[in-house]
Amino acid sequence: MGTDNSKKIVTVVPGDGVGPECIDAARRIIDAAAVKIEWEERQAGASVFKQGIASGVPADTIDSIKKTRVLLKGPLATPVGYGQKSANVTLRKLFETYANLRPIHEFNGVETPYSGRGIDLIVVRENVEDLYAGIEHMQTPGVAQCLKLISRKGCEKIVRMAFEVARSEGRKNVHCATKSNIMKFTEGMLQRTFEEVAKEYPDLNSSHIIIDNCAHQLVKKPEQFDVIVTTNMNGDIISDLTSALVGGLGFAPSANLGNDIAIFEAVHGSAPKYAGKDVINPTAVILSAVLMLRHLGEFEAAALIENAIMVTIEEGKVKTGDIAGYDKGAHTSAYTEAVIANLGRIPSKWQVRKYQAIKMPQVSGAPDLVKPGSRRVLGADIFVESALDPDSLGRSLEQIVSESPFKLKMISNRGTKVYPYGGTTPDCVDHWRCRFIMRDMEAEASEEQLLKLINLVSAKHNWMHVEKLPEINGEAGYTMAQGED
Ligand code: NAP
Repeated sequence: MGTDNSKKIVTVVPGDGVGPECIDAARRIIDAAAVKIEWEERQAGASVFKQGIASGVPADTIDSIKKTRVLLKGPLATPVGYGQKSANVTLRKLFETYANLRPIHEFNGVETPYSGRGIDLIVVRENVEDLYAGIEHMQTPGVAQCLKLISRKGCEKIVRMAFEVARSEGRKNVHCATKSNIMKFTEGMLQRTFEEVAKEYPDLNSSHIIIDNCAHQLVKKPEQFDVIVTTNMNGDIISDLTSALVGGLGFAPSANLGNDIAIFEAVHGSAPKYAGKDVINPTAVILSAVLMLRHLGEFEAAALIENAIMVTIEEGKVKTGDIAGYDKGAHTSAYTEAVIANLGRIPSKWQVRKYQAIKMPQVSGAPDLVKPGSRRVLGADIFVESALDPDSLGRSLEQIVSESPFKLKMISNRGTKVYPYGGTTPDCVDHWRCRFIMRDMEAEASEEQLLKLINLVSAKHNWMHVEKLPEINGEAGYTMAQGED
């Protein structure tokens, strides 16, 4: 990497809205810190969508990132009426940057209700799976579905990354935050994987916490947390929460790490109302560049810049608008000058951690095929769109399968059993999950039998979705409806 032994090439995308101002600040500070970086400037985001490139990321940007393997980017906007997918998510997924690291810590000089409590934590967010796989369908005109996909491989990668990040930063405690009490298979997969992998890291304290309690504890006693590893959606939400604990989105950097490629960006977006006004707080982007320098092995330069930022904020002579009020705050450019002037100074109340390179988890690129000891299919959930009431639909389906190897076990509506009658009648919509299981509980449902079942149901009802009911290693691989026995 690089044109000579010491110079590194980095792809830089200024981005949209306030992006160019923030990226300019970061580049000026890095140049002033005498780090030898050759910037390869490329485009992505709004201007690219408007050229008619539906992904928002042109081929020469992709080629540059493939070559440099490091991207520093400003926020990207998806203009209304152009493209369906966010260019940010495209970049993260295209390069399989499966880990999103979002560190925050207290800034002396930024007054918050938590000042003085020593908040210093990092959220390690899974970055490509979960509801962000973006697999959505309108199942009926009135009912939408989003698939929450969580893989064992994805869990193992993010969990190992969290433990490795903890070690590289000299941290001691790793929490895994999930909603495994409700989503036993998906969120539970992360908890189970975490508990298995934790055994390989006996030097670290590991514990599981339910995500809602985690949010509660983060507001009540945030200083108790060190590293929090969590699923994509949970991580998205709690990392915005954690940024607010220390002063807001202006102070929240992030790194997206994959096996081959790393993308560094602020947590915030393009903040269009501040664009071009030279008033935005560029700290989040500058700190993202600091994360990038550590990734490149430039630990001294990273510490130099981190210290200069901390001195600038601690002294409070040059305060950005988000802290001082936009009517009296310093310009972005003046703040940048102040940070440059403070290079070489050490803050009185902050000590830069002793960072080491992250030992990146070694994960094979081959498909992860989990081989169970035993496996069979017990039946199927057929999702039916119908205007019938539960009793009429239930009787109709029972009659349809009366001669087949399957029986109707139950029907649920929005997850609650409504047939056979369970004693309460929840609000129903035209979206019914009809559970068929083999009459002979010892038998396995064959493909042929399942296809016949679908044919039987579809002759009378409008089905929109089918899920097999697997039994894996002797345990049901599907959940019960509320009220189902
Ligand atoms: P946003 O751009 O993050 O801005 C929301 C608010 O956060 C701002 O109005 C401002 O709050 C505050 N803020 C943002 N950046 C700040 C900074 N550097 N310093 C201080 N305060 C800051 O979110 P949005 O308005 O929802 O999204 C705008 C566009 O950005 C959308 O097109 C979205 O898709 C895109 N976006 C991109 C990324 C990315 O590229 N990674 C991430 C998120 C959103 P006040 O109004 O209170 O001052």
